[in-house]
Amino acid sequence: MSDLYQPVTIAAALAALSDLGAQGAVMAGGTWIMRAPLRQEPMARTYVATWRIPTLHQIEITETHVRIGSGITHAGLAEELHEILELRGLVAAASGSANPAVRQVATLGGNICTSGFYAADLVPALLCQNAEVDVETLQDRQRMSLQTFLEVRGALPAYLLTGVLIPRRPVISAHARLPLRKAGDYPVTIVSAAVERRADGTIGDAAIGVGSVEMTARRWRRLEEAVLGLPLNARRIEKCATDLAEEFIGRDGPETPGWYRVQVLPALVRRAFENLEKLSPEEGRHVDPH
Ligand SMILES: Cc1cc2nc3c(=O)[nH]c(=O)nc-3n(C[C@H](O)[C@H](O)[C@H](O)COP(=O)(O)OP(=O)(O)OC[C@H]3O[C@@H](n4cnc5c(N)ncnc54)[C@H](O)[C@@H]3O)c2cc1C
Repeated sequence: MSDLYQPVTIAAALAALSDLGAQGAVMAGGTWIMRAPLRQEPMARTYVATWRIPTLHQIEITETHVRIGSGITHAGLAEELHEILELRGLVAAASGSANPAVRQVATLGGNICTSGFYAADLVPALLCQNAEVDVETLQDRQRMSLQTFLEVRGALPAYLLTGVLIPRRPVISAHARLPLRKAGDYPVTIVSAAVERRADGTIGDAAIGVGSVEMTARRWRRLEEAVLGLPLNARRIEKCATDLAEEFIGRDGPETPGWYRVQVLPALVRRAFENLEKLSPEEGRHVDPH
């Protein structure tokens, strides 16, 4: 049986985590931690809960950025951000993940910090928004790109991810996922896209995030370059994705082989771009093609 410590400040949480060392771990919504026995993983001796730390539950929306506290749940995120048009993809990721009960408790921080969870919906949606994360340890406070965080998170000393910063940009965004019942309803492949729609209807800057295919979610840079300047046409972009998909080596899992994740990837790209096509021309401020 694990102990639970419920601090009310970030400083107290970090001090406890530092004292506990390998015996302690952060607990946010607990939806991943509580399934540790099913994964044959040991529980920590003591969990340091985040739910009583008020600053982790705040969302700040300004003209230049949106900052989301790591303790915000998937349901809270969908509710608070649904009017921010450029974040439709993130809202779709938050409101389409897992099931309603899990979405009420699973947090943004838990989604990003779980290195053993490869099918996190929020991660590709945030990658294509150029998100940064705020990470605090007892020694310092750092802001780094989400992609960097995903690469270094396993090697950090005891830390707390306190929030995510999204710069506001004139983009339209969408999210597409393929859940499989056999995979416990976790998505086998995820594609998120955030693109600038130019006044002439072509694609300006494009950001495309891919999750669940490999162990770490990432941007699909070659596809982003290939679609630059093309009309916003989902079938055409699916063709580009088919031509480039061989750069992925899908991860094998008990629920599905890796090749299947890659095989369905172009169709998921098409679905994400079909969702973008459906958005009204007013969404996403037009940018000049030159
Ligand atoms: C049946 C089921 C289906 C699900 N399906 C999906 C799905 O389809 N898509 C999806 O995205 N999610 C899904 N999830 C939810 C998934 O568990 C959560 O998205 C998330 O990974 C866990 O969030 P949590 O707050 O519950 O984290 P917890 O279980 O509390 O913690 C998870 C890990 O993150 C660490 N951690 C948490 N917060 C912080 C922080 N602020 N700083 C540092 N470390 C931290 C913990 O120490 C732990 O290692 C599903 C969950 C269940 C139970």
